[in-house]
Amino acid sequence: MKKTLKTIANWLNIDCGVYGDTVVTGVSIDTRTIQKGDLFIPFRGEQVNGHQYVAKAFENGAAATLWLKDEPNPPSDVPVLFVDDSELALQEMARQYRNEHKAIFIGITGSNGKTSSKDILASSLSPYYKVQKTIGNLNNQLGLPITILSLDEDTEIAVLEMGMSGFGEIEFLSTLARPHYAVITNIGEAHMQDLGSREGIAKAKFEIIKGLDEHGVLFYDGDEPLLQNLVGKEPNLNVESFGFQKGNSLVVSNIVMTEKGSRFDVRGELNGEFFIPVLGKHQVKNALNAMLISKSLGLRDDQIHFGIEQAQLTDMRMQLINSSNGILFLNDAYNAAPTSMSAAIQFMQTTNLRPEKWLVLGDMLELGENEKQFHESIADVIDEAAIQKVCLFGPRMQWLYEKLHNKFANENIIHTNDDYEQITQYIKQYANEDSLILLKGSRGMRLETILDSFK
Ligand code: ATP
Ligand code: MG
Repeated sequence: MKKTLKTIANWLNIDCGVYGDTVVTGVSIDTRTIQKGDLFIPFRGEQVNGHQYVAKAFENGAAATLWLKDEPNPPSDVPVLFVDDSELALQEMARQYRNEHKAIFIGITGSNGKTSSKDILASSLSPYYKVQKTIGNLNNQLGLPITILSLDEDTEIAVLEMGMSGFGEIEFLSTLARPHYAVITNIGEAHMQDLGSREGIAKAKFEIIKGLDEHGVLFYDGDEPLLQNLVGKEPNLNVESFGFQKGNSLVVSNIVMTEKGSRFDVRGELNGEFFIPVLGKHQVKNALNAMLISKSLGLRDDQIHFGIEQAQLTDMRMQLINSSNGILFLNDAYNAAPTSMSAAIQFMQTTNLRPEKWLVLGDMLELGENEKQFHESIADVIDEAAIQKVCLFGPRMQWLYEKLHNKFANENIIHTNDDYEQITQYIKQYANEDSLILLKGSRGMRLETILDSFK
C-alpha cells in the first residue's frame, strides 16, 4: 500500500496530529523483519511490551508507529497514531484497504496443502497478472491483515492463505478478505483437538463461504463426502470441484512421476495432458484448483499449460535434495498430520525414483485425545514390501513402533525419542545412492536437522 497517515487516521476514525502527510507503505509487528516505510504496530502481551521496541522500529526504517492510548511516555518526535487496541486497528486498516482495492482476491483454506496450493496458483498466474501472495505462513488474524496491507496498489491478484484452529476463525478471515474465489484444499485431521471431529473440521473450513463475493465461486475437494454434503445444503452457491473421482468439475488420472515432476491427464472443465514440476499425487491435486481458477479467470488452455509448468513450492514441501554421498532425500518435513503423512508414504511406495525406500517419520502433534490411534493407524498405510527401512523419531512414534516392528527385521527399524544423531548414524551406515529417504514430521520435530549432516 501507499497511504498517508491522514488516510489511515480516517480509516480508524482517529486524529492524525501534525504528521498527516507522512506516507507508509506497509505494516509490521516485528522490528526484526520491518521494512523501510512500514507502520510499526506494537502489541502489549504478557511477556513482551512492543512499545519498548518502537525506537528500534524507527532505527530499522519505520515511517510511523501506532501507540496504545493508555501506554505511558509516547515518543514526541516521530509520527504516532494513538489507538485503543492494536489488533483491532490492524484488522480495521486491512478491511478498509481491502474494500478499496481493485484486485481479484483468492482465499485458500483446508487442512493440508494451503501453502502448496497458494504457491502453485501464484506461480501459475504470474506470467499473466501482477500477483502477490501470503508471505510464508502469515495466515491468521494478524498475518492475513498484514498480508493485505502489504499488497501494492496495482496488484491484480491477491492469493491469501487462511489458517485456523477453531470455529469462527475462517469466517472472520473470509469476511475481512471478501474473496472472489475461495478454495478448500481438503479435510484432514489437523486441529482435531479443538474441533472434535472431521465433521467439525469440514464445517470450520466451510465458513470460508461466509465472506465469499456474491458472484464468487468455491473450489473444493470433491472426493471428500463431508464437503459434498455441505455444498449440497447451499443451492445458491457457485461451486466447482476437483479430484480423482468421476463427477468432479475437473478429474485427474494417469499420474506419472519422474524426478522432474508429475505428468497427468485431466477431464472436465479442461482436457488433456499436463505437467507440473512437483511430486506427489496430493500436490497434483493442489494444482487442480489452480487450473480451475485459471480457467475461470479466462486464461486459454495453452496459458494454463505454461502456467502450471512454472509452479514452485516453498521449501520443505515434497522437496527432493541430492546429498553429497548420493543419497536422495525427500524433504516433506514442514509439517505432518495423518492425511499428509499417508500421502507422502503412498508417494514413496509407488515411486520409481530409487529402488530402496526409507521412511524417517516424526511425531504428529496437536491431534488431541485420539493421538495414539492416529499414530498407530499409519502402520496400515505402510507396505513393508515397498519400504526397506524405517526410522521413527519422537515419543509418540513409540506407538507406531509397537505396531510396526514385527513387520520389519530388527536391523531395518529403529526408534528414538529425541536423538537426531542416532538416525544420522544409521543413515550413514546403511544408505547409499540407491536410497530415497522421506523426512516427514510435525514442525516441532524439526526433522530437517538430519539433513545438516549430509550437505
Ligand atoms: P499449515 O496449516 O501448516 O499452514 P498448509 O495447509 O499450508 O499447512 P502445506 O504447507 O502446503 O500445507 O503442506 C503441508 C504438508 O501437507 C506437506 O507435507 C505437503 O506435502 C502435504 N500436503 C499438501 N497438500 C496436500 C493434500 N492435498 N493432501 C494431503 N497432504 C498434502
Ligand atoms: Mg501453510
